[in-house]
Amino acid sequence: MNFDLNDDLREMQRMAKNFAENEIAPHMEEDEKKHHFRIEILKKMADLGFFGCIIPEEYGGTNFGYLASAIITEEIARISASWGLPFNMQTTGPGLTILRWGTEEQKQTYIPALVSAEKLGCFAITEPDSGSDVVSMRTTATRTDGGYLLNGSKTWISNAHVADVGIVFAHTDRSLGHRGMTAFIVDMKNTEGLTTKAIETKLGLHCAPTGEVFFDNAFVPETCVLGKVGEGFKVCMTLLDNTRLSCATRAVGVARRALELSIDYAINRKQGGRRIADYQMIQSDLAMMHAEEQAARLLVWKAAWEKDQDRWTRNTLSVSTAKFYAAEVANKAVSAGMKIFGSYGFSTEYPMERLYRDAKSYQVVEGTHNIQKLIIASQIIPNE
Ligand SMILES: Cc1cc2nc3c(=O)[nH]c(=O)nc-3n(C[C@H](O)[C@H](O)[C@H](O)COP(=O)(O)OP(=O)(O)OC[C@H]3O[C@@H](n4cnc5c(N)ncnc54)[C@H](O)[C@@H]3O)c2cc1C
Repeated sequence: MNFDLNDDLREMQRMAKNFAENEIAPHMEEDEKKHHFRIEILKKMADLGFFGCIIPEEYGGTNFGYLASAIITEEIARISASWGLPFNMQTTGPGLTILRWGTEEQKQTYIPALVSAEKLGCFAITEPDSGSDVVSMRTTATRTDGGYLLNGSKTWISNAHVADVGIVFAHTDRSLGHRGMTAFIVDMKNTEGLTTKAIETKLGLHCAPTGEVFFDNAFVPETCVLGKVGEGFKVCMTLLDNTRLSCATRAVGVARRALELSIDYAINRKQGGRRIADYQMIQSDLAMMHAEEQAARLLVWKAAWEKDQDRWTRNTLSVSTAKFYAAEVANKAVSAGMKIFGSYGFSTEYPMERLYRDAKSYQVVEGTHNIQKLIIASQIIPNE
C-alpha cells in the first residue's frame, strides 16, 4: 500500500488549489450573496482538463482517473462548495453515464462537449413527490411515431435551466416497477414542451444553479434512449454510484476548510488573556475535526482507487460508506467551527456560516443520510 501521491497527482492538486484560490475565491463570497453563476469559471475549469480525468482520451478526456478527479474536486470544494458541483453535472454524472450506456454516436456527440463544457449537463431523477423512492416517479414516456412524449416534472435539478443536455428518467411502463424505467438524453434547450424554472429559495450553494423541469408532451426522438428501454433503473444506479463519490469528495473539501478556518481563528482570538486555541476544550474540537477529516478522505480515496482498478466496478458499499461518512463529518466540522467562531460564526461577514449552510446539502443530495445507511446495511447484512 502506498499513500504517497505521484508527481502527476501532486501537480494536479497544486494546479487545482491555485485555480480555486486565484480564480474562484476573489469573487465567490459576493457571487454567493447575489446567486451569481459565473459561466467563465466553468469554461476555465474545462480548459484546465478538470472534467476530463475520468474520460478516455478518445472522447476528449485525459483518463488520469477517479483519484485524480477526487483530488482536484476536493481543492475546488475547499474554496467553494458551489463550484464543486460542475464535476457532477459535466462528466461524473452525464458524461460517464453516456460512456457506460450510450451508443457510439451518443458518446461522440455528447462526451467531448461535456468535457470541454461546450455543453452544460444535468441529470433529472427527483420529482416533487418522488425523492428517495426513485421508482415512484411519475414522469412518463409514451411511445409515439419516431420517439417518446415526456410528461411530468422534475425538481431540485442542478443546472436545470442552464443545461444544454440532460439525462432524464421516466417510466415507459409503470406496471413493470423499476423494470419499466427508461433513461433519455434530452436536449434541454430545444425541446418543444420542455420548460425550466430556477429555484431561488435554496439555503446555500448559491453559485450553483438549481431548478425545476416541466414536460408537457415533450418529444424526444428514439435515438435519445440511453441504454435499452426498461434499463433506466440500472442506468440511474450506475450514475449515482459515481456522483455520490464526487459528493463525498466535496464534503471532505468543506470539512478541511472548516478545520483550517477554525485553527486560524483559534490562534488569533484571545479570551482570558490566552489564545482560545490554548484551551483544551477548543483543542478537543480541533483534534476531532482533524481525525474525522483524515478518515473521510481515506474512504474517498479508497473508493476512487477501486474505480481506477476497474472503471465499471460497482463498489457501491465503498462509495456509500464514503458518502455517508464524509457528509456527516462535514456537518460535524462546520457545526464545531460555528461554535469556535462564537458570534462571528453567526455573522454573514465570516465564511463559517456559508460552510454550515452548504454542508447540509451533502446529507440530502445523491441519496440522503438514511438512504446511504440503508444501502450500507443491505450490503453488510447477509440475506436470511
Ligand atoms: C442542492 C440540491 C441539488 C440537487 N440536485 C439534484 C439533481 O441534480 N438531480 C436530481 O435528480 N436530484 C437532485 N437533488 C434532489 C435530491 O437528490 C433529493 O432531494 C434527495 O434524493 C432526497 O429526496 P427528497 O428531498 O424527496 O426527500 P425524501 O425522499 O422525501 O426524504 C425525506 C426524509 O425521509 C427519509 N427517508 C426517505 N425514505 C426513507 C427510507 N426508506 N428509510 C428511512 N428514511 C427515509 C430521508 O432520509 C429524509 O430524511 C438535489 C437536491 C438539492 C438539495
